[in-house]
Amino acid sequence: MTTDKSYDLVVVGAGIIGLATAWTARQRGLSVALVERNAKCIGASVRNFGFVSVTGQRAGEHWRRARRTRDLWQRIAPLAGIKVIHQGLNVLAQRPEAVDVLEAFLKTEMGEGCRLLSAEEAARERPELQTGRAVLYSPHELRVESRDAIPRLTKWLEHEQGVDFFWNTPVLGVDLPKVHTSQGPLRSSLCVICPGHDLRTLYPDEMAQAAIQLCTLQMMRVRPGQPVRLSSAVMSDLSLVRNDGFADLPEASALNTLLQAQQPEHLQQGVHLIAVQSADGSLVLGDSHFYGDAEFPFGRSEVDELILDEMHRVLRFPGAQVTERWTGTYASAKEPVYKKLLAPGVVLGLVTGGTGASTSFALAEELLDLAQNR
Ligand SMILES: Cc1cc2nc3c(=O)[nH]c(=O)nc-3n(C[C@H](O)[C@H](O)[C@H](O)COP(=O)(O)OP(=O)(O)OC[C@H]3O[C@@H](n4cnc5c(N)ncnc54)[C@H](O)[C@@H]3O)c2cc1C
Repeated sequence: MTTDKSYDLVVVGAGIIGLATAWTARQRGLSVALVERNAKCIGASVRNFGFVSVTGQRAGEHWRRARRTRDLWQRIAPLAGIKVIHQGLNVLAQRPEAVDVLEAFLKTEMGEGCRLLSAEEAARERPELQTGRAVLYSPHELRVESRDAIPRLTKWLEHEQGVDFFWNTPVLGVDLPKVHTSQGPLRSSLCVICPGHDLRTLYPDEMAQAAIQLCTLQMMRVRPGQPVRLSSAVMSDLSLVRNDGFADLPEASALNTLLQAQQPEHLQQGVHLIAVQSADGSLVLGDSHFYGDAEFPFGRSEVDELILDEMHRVLRFPGAQVTERWTGTYASAKEPVYKKLLAPGVVLGLVTGGTGASTSFALAEELLDLAQNR
């Protein structure tokens, strides 16, 4: 039971945003309880690619969030026993119009540290990729195995960082200094609510006003027929019209027009390619995007086929066999994050652009600043 326990901060939700908030608060010297309604984290934070990405994030504030978050992952991962499986990103441009987008990207501040490999250089240096027009290499990304990394981060926060966890405990309401849970009230000066895509339990009116939708993605794991090594994460032309850091460039509109004609089904299903590798050599592949006011519960084989089709256009991955399929859902809105001070000391924080692994630690700082009125 929670009765009589008192903290500086109660965090709601043990996804990556809640965990990052708990860690940041401990860094600031606050006592912290984290309350999660499930027995463990089973949401978007363990269903994702574990792709901590910078290149492709929306220009400006969000791109800076991603850089800061990547730096913090790099610092925390070894402390929490989390393995970084590979680093960097290769974007294979299959069309001249895609090369135009990459060249324009390199001229922005976001291009710093990135380089464009010619088709010949890519053939020599990236044998896992199909032949294309050019490859953008970004060194900024990290990849962790989320289903392993999140439990490790959780354990480390509990055993070495002094965060108290309350599992199987839905939070029913917040009225500081009380946070009402299914196990009784906790007392706290501050409360940061990180509910992921649960838009209905706490503050449903706020959520409704914020025009937040749900986005469901299809994902899969594939094993190669023979060993293949990805040097970095991989994306393709479809990502250049989807990820804001590229898609917002004027050069992306010609590519978009071409893709509408050449790969209309991929665009209709919101399919673009992200491929990352796991320690056992298998790849995590995705994804598609289905938007609505509820989760889409049914995985469709034609959507999986579109993802696999794009994989074969981009990767030399012979004899690929699908060994696992799953869906995941995140909250989605026009702006990539939603943060709001609801009452003194009470803050709601969501990543609404499908980039929470990449922006969590920086967002956590912003959420706490709001709660602490900094
Ligand atoms: C398939 C997929 C792939 C993705 N790939 C990437 C990627 O590679 N890189 C990237 O940066 N981002 C990626 N994203 C986005 C990223 O995973 C999310 O933005 C991020 O995980 C959101 O974290 P969260 O903590 O807000 O939500 P969640 O992980 O969903 O956690 C929220 C938690 O809050 C709990 N909760 C809610 N309400 C209550 C309550 N009232 N009381 C108690 N507990 C409550 C829930 O049970 C849940 O455990 C992906 C998302 C999906 C779905």
